[in-house]
Amino acid sequence: MSFRANFPLPDVDWEPTREFWAGAARGELVLPRCDACGRYKWFPDGLCRFCWTGPHTWTRASGRGRLFSWTVVRRPFIPQLADRVPYVTGLVTVDEDPAVRLATFVVDVAPEDLRVEMPLRVVFRPLRFAGVEGQVIAPAFTPGET
Ligand SMILES: [Zn+2]
Repeated sequence: MSFRANFPLPDVDWEPTREFWAGAARGELVLPRCDACGRYKWFPDGLCRFCWTGPHTWTRASGRGRLFSWTVVRRPFIPQLADRVPYVTGLVTVDEDPAVRLATFVVDVAPEDLRVEMPLRVVFRPLRFAGVEGQVIAPAFTPGET
């Protein structure tokens, strides 16, 4: 198995998610919205799981969501994460469509304060890893309404 030189930074040039990362770099949460039925879809590859058609348009979302589930990561499972632990990863449902659950970081909150369905809002943070060149601006979520 081999990794890209800047692993674990996301590949912002990978076609299925390129618009997602470009939006984050502008400070916008953009999600694919089905051209046929109007539902948001995630992951942005393949057919719409509601109407089984293909095309979608990247659409700016409000950035509001709710915490569906989370994990507090305390052990780095790769060396590049050693200086990040502990951190919180979560599944966040977006207000536009609770069927869309983004896997993301939950930041600026103590793990003991997290609650299912708590309101969250998007923030954009540089994603960096020890020993890895470069950074990517990534959406994360923090408690509060926008
Ligand atoms: Zn559809």
